[in-house]
This record gives sequence, C-alpha cells and structure tokens, in this order.
Amino acid sequence: MVEQNGHKLALKLVFPSFDPAHFILADRIRLKQILLNLLSNAIKYNQMGGTVTVACTRTGLDRTRISVADTGPGLLPEKLAQLFQHFNRLGQENSGVEGTGLGLVVSKLLVELMGGVIGVASTVGVGTVFWFELASAAAPGLTDEPIPPAVAQASAAPGAPLRTVLYVEDNTANLELVRQMIARRPDLRLLSALTGNQGVETARESLPDVILMDINLPDISGLEALRILRNDPATAHIPVLALSANAMPDDIKAGRSAGFFSYLTKPIKLNEVMEAIAVALAKVNP
Ligand code: MN
Repeated sequence: MVEQNGHKLALKLVFPSFDPAHFILADRIRLKQILLNLLSNAIKYNQMGGTVTVACTRTGLDRTRISVADTGPGLLPEKLAQLFQHFNRLGQENSGVEGTGLGLVVSKLLVELMGGVIGVASTVGVGTVFWFELASAAAPGLTDEPIPPAVAQASAAPGAPLRTVLYVEDNTANLELVRQMIARRPDLRLLSALTGNQGVETARESLPDVILMDINLPDISGLEALRILRNDPATAHIPVLALSANAMPDDIKAGRSAGFFSYLTKPIKLNEVMEAIAVALAKVNP
C-alpha cells in the first residue's frame, strides 16, 4: 500500500523478515492504521533516495517492538516533545507536504488503548525512529480457547464419506485456527488458498464440497471470486460461505444477495463455522 508513495522520492523500503513469526495482542485493523500512519510519515518527511526501515523485535520477556525509521531531516528535542499534540505539524505547516498532524495523536491513543507504549527518537541530519511496543502473544490456536462441544465431540459416523473444505483466506492466523478445528474432524479435510485467484484455481482443480471465503483478499475480492465460481459450470454447485470482517448490515445484505450460501462475520466463532459447514454439506450432499 505504501510502496507507491515511496516511488516519488525514490525511497528504499526495508521490511523485516517474519521468520520466526511474531505474535502480539492487538486489534488487527487498529494496528494496521497505526503502521500506515507511521509509514506514510516516514515517506512524507524523507529525502530523495532515502530509506524507510521497519523492524520488529521482541523486547524483554513479553513485549514486541515495531519501529519505523526514516532518513529525513530529523527533529530538534523541543520539537520532539510536541510531536503527539493535536494538529502540531512541527513547523511543516508551510512545507507543502500534506497532512493534518492528527495521525500521530490518534496513533498514540490507539497504541495506549491496546495497552502499549509509543515513542520517538530523532537525530538532526540523520533521521527519526518512531516505535511502539505491544504485549507479545503466543501463536493463536485452539489451545487458547475452550473447545466448543460441537467440535470436540464430533466424530464421523462409520463409513461417512470424506468431505473437503476449501478455505480462501489471506490472514494466516485465521487459517491456522480453522486448520486446527478441521484437524479434529476425521471426516473433513482442509485445502487452503491465500488469494482469490488461487482459491478459484484450487476449487476448479479439486472440486471441494464446501468453500469458506474471506471477502477482503489481496487480489480479487471474495465477491468477485464467488462470481467466477458461479459462472463456471464445474464449480457453480459448490456452496460458498462468506467469512468476513465486513460486518455492517449492508455488507451482510450485499453478501447474501451476491449468492453466498451463508454469511458469517469475524472474529471466527468455531461453533458457528462448524454448524454452517454442516448445514451446507447436508444440503448439497445429504
Ligand atoms: Mn482478508
């Protein structure tokens, strides 16, 4: 999302590798807003041919720090103190760089509401580093929450046919959660795809019995993927269940009229998902 803005200044954007993965306790959407704010600042207040470096490190026992460093002009100590104040753009008011200064105030508020800390360090002529720390968390999984009875007690009837569920989802934490849930069901097998196009391709190749479809995907949307599947005689019969963070009544209405078999909202409720899969399977292949 931010790379395009960086092109104007011929900036080099450096992102961390996530091996091993870091997990933190945060609201996914708010975290994204904070990161976008810090990244867009680091791009805006940089110099021609400069660098933006994002880093992610575990600090102490239970904190993870994410930092965004720029190679801009840097800030004097007295300016740093005012950074998180309302509408204060640090003498950039007449610089011709757009922005309202509200972003940092909101970022600070959001970080603190999630139990974290935000900070900044700067050296004039070198650049500025914004960082925030949030509580580290274990990799998400079923071990973290009580196992719903419908999942724990489910067992395949003798001779029950093996059914295949395809889950199209770009959020790997959600994928892992559903993977663990399906692993407890000897009668179900899971296929997954990380993009809409990949999902369509996998559906055509393996003709799953039911498809779980995220809506916000990196390439085509879940709605578009559904349309393609509906228009292909080979896949038109497969029930597609929407599983989306878009939870407004209009989203749900649009999803249902688009032809989703059912429309479930995130965060994922395991019982609800398992029931919806069972209903879809019973209807298609009683
Ligand atoms: Mn998504």
